[in-house]
Amino acid sequence: MYTHLMAHSIHSPQHALVTGGAGFIGSHLVELLLAGGLRVTAVDDISTGTWDNLAAIRGHERLQIVNGSVTDAATVHDLVTDADAVYHLAASVGVQRIADAPIESIQRNIAPVEILLSELLKKQQAGRAVKLFLASSSEVYGKNPKLKWTEEDDLVFGPTTCARWSYGAAKAIDEFLALAYYRQFWLPVVIGRFFNVVGPRQTGRYGMVLPRLVDRVIAGQSPIVHDDGAQTRCFAHVSDVCHAVVNLMNAPQAIGQVFNIGSDQPVSIRELAERVISAANPQLKIEYQSYRDAYPRDFEDIRRRVPDLTKLRRTIDYHPQHNLDAIIKEVIEWKHRVDSKAISNQQS
Ligand code: NAD
Repeated sequence: MYTHLMAHSIHSPQHALVTGGAGFIGSHLVELLLAGGLRVTAVDDISTGTWDNLAAIRGHERLQIVNGSVTDAATVHDLVTDADAVYHLAASVGVQRIADAPIESIQRNIAPVEILLSELLKKQQAGRAVKLFLASSSEVYGKNPKLKWTEEDDLVFGPTTCARWSYGAAKAIDEFLALAYYRQFWLPVVIGRFFNVVGPRQTGRYGMVLPRLVDRVIAGQSPIVHDDGAQTRCFAHVSDVCHAVVNLMNAPQAIGQVFNIGSDQPVSIRELAERVISAANPQLKIEYQSYRDAYPRDFEDIRRRVPDLTKLRRTIDYHPQHNLDAIIKEVIEWKHRVDSKAISNQQS
């Protein structure tokens, strides 16, 4: 029998381990799990995340935070000992980070998955099966030209000389590994391919498009749109994504399966920038920049990225609660709060 993660009563809280728990999505997931009555351990090495993301729940009686890296086998061994479910979100994320630190990104995105799976197998062989949620990415589809991507579609990467494909390829290896442990040992794994996830706490520092646009518009600068801006993406609110993750972990039929998770409503990056401008600073105009000026010479982008969510909807009740304009408004308000807090900290 697998151990299913449930929102149990506070008297017998189950224990979830969230790797990357101080990151953008991880911090929201930690809050959601705590709200569901679980005991939560958040581990993070603060390479891109910040403990400030957990400020609202700091000191919570069911929260433990661990400053450490899941590339370290001894740390992972200690962390999984007492866990009833593991959510693996720690990773090196963002096109900018892959361009700046290509070796580190690949290592960070593969090694922890191998370590986690082998530790979880040991636990299972000792009589305690623990479910693993693996955060994968729409990047695994690469540049597949289909209009909508379903989980069984081909992965279509560019050449290894183009570093940007290493992120999707590393996530694909993670998926292969997790599915191999499931096939060979019935280790309970659930794989979620996140499409563009957005919301408060996401930083624009590593190339994420919505916070980058918002940062510039709030600072009174023209938002920069790469190429012609006709490339499309689908943006989902982090809270809708975290609910889907927890619901998948509660669904026995999700074990050993891969799911697209996100929004299936495409919007062009030009339109996204226009909506940010009209919400925050209508006098501004978009500034266009070529990929060549923005990224290394070998950079290739993906023109269209839309998930087919049929499998997700068949498996869980999935009704996103946030539309794009509401998300943009929330991100702008959050950014204003962060900026004014930073100014008052500087003044005091
Ligand atoms: P993030 O950078 O905010 O979060 C990742 C966290 O992992 C950071 O806090 C970082 O410090 C931590 N981390 C990295 N390596 C670590 C290590 N070795 N040990 C411990 N902590 C480590 O990014 P995010 O957007 O919250 O992404 C979370 C997950 O979702 C990642 O696996 C990412 O690949 C996946 N994902 C995100 C998106 C998105 O749109 N944000 C899309 C697809 C997939």
